[in-house]
Amino acid sequence: MVTLVTGGAGFVGSHLVDHLIKKGDRVIVVDNLSSGEIKFIQKWIDSGDVIFQQCDLKDLETLKCVMYDPIGGEPVDIVYHLAANPDIRLGTTITDTDLKEGTIATYNVLESMRLAGVKKIAFSSSSVVYGEAKKMPTPENYGPLFPISLYGASKLASEALITSWVGTFGLQAWIFRFANIVGARGTHGVIFDFIHKLHNNRNQLEVLGNGLQEKSYMEVEDCAMSMIHVVENTNEQINCFNLGTNDTCSVRRIAEIVLEECKCGDAEIQYTGGDRGWAGDVPKSMLNPGRLIELGFEPNYTSEEAVRHTARCLVQEIGQP
Ligand code: NAD
Repeated sequence: MVTLVTGGAGFVGSHLVDHLIKKGDRVIVVDNLSSGEIKFIQKWIDSGDVIFQQCDLKDLETLKCVMYDPIGGEPVDIVYHLAANPDIRLGTTITDTDLKEGTIATYNVLESMRLAGVKKIAFSSSSVVYGEAKKMPTPENYGPLFPISLYGASKLASEALITSWVGTFGLQAWIFRFANIVGARGTHGVIFDFIHKLHNNRNQLEVLGNGLQEKSYMEVEDCAMSMIHVVENTNEQINCFNLGTNDTCSVRRIAEIVLEECKCGDAEIQYTGGDRGWAGDVPKSMLNPGRLIELGFEPNYTSEEAVRHTARCLVQEIGQP
């Protein structure tokens, strides 16, 4: 099986690549290395299991050429499309990044697939498509979907483009609405930010908002394995799954865990106030992972366990503050 992963040098993408190779796929990684790092997949490039194509998804002409197995020349079997701008907050100051790196990039992936005859796509969407959902835990059939961030808008627009390609060109699609994904190799997100802040000043930790924001956290290996599990065990034209845990963890609790793991127990936590970290931040989100669990996938980590495990991994990677 030949699998193409966009964003495969990124945080989630590189863990997905590890698991695809473990199950015997040959993998093509397409990444522009804007936030990904080649070192995350270097061992697979060296072993010949990964072919790396440095390519920007905004460049449609180049993208059209990478949809084929470089060895046999056949179209790849499936595209896992993960490349995107990962920073939700960026949309508060730069308003066209998510449009270009999310919506237009997804259009380019779909159009390149159509021209090459690639029939399957798995897409990393997000819980933020639900916006400030009135129902929690939020199931996949919740609606109407009114995202409140530009990033969320680009995820919902990408979902719509994908389902339109299914309806019009006979594609088969897996849409994954991720909770907050955390774990080793993390390069962004709340735990990463807290550890960096403590590196600058180990006596004080600034927390955006009042700390009562509460979300589901899923460990990155659980995320990667669950994507593969769902793709292998479902066969509808459109398969939409929440990927998350059955619980939540508050930002206040994350701050406490990070301080413990960084051995900065005496640091003072300073909350900037307000119910959310920034405009467009969803203060409370909890996905209903029932469909995933019914399909036989049980995450190894709860939200709090995932947060603690991540803090430990990142302290090892970044260093003790
Ligand atoms: P990441 O930044 O580590 O990975 C994104 C990868 O895409 C990077 O390797 C980057 O270099 C690459 N990339 C970005 N723009 C590109 C472009 N124009 N052309 C080619 N490559 C490009 O982020 P991540 O956390 O691993 O996120 C992976 C996917 O999962 C993203 O689509 C993200 O929106 C989605 N997601 C992540 C989370 C999370 O908590 N990490 C939650 C919900 C959804």
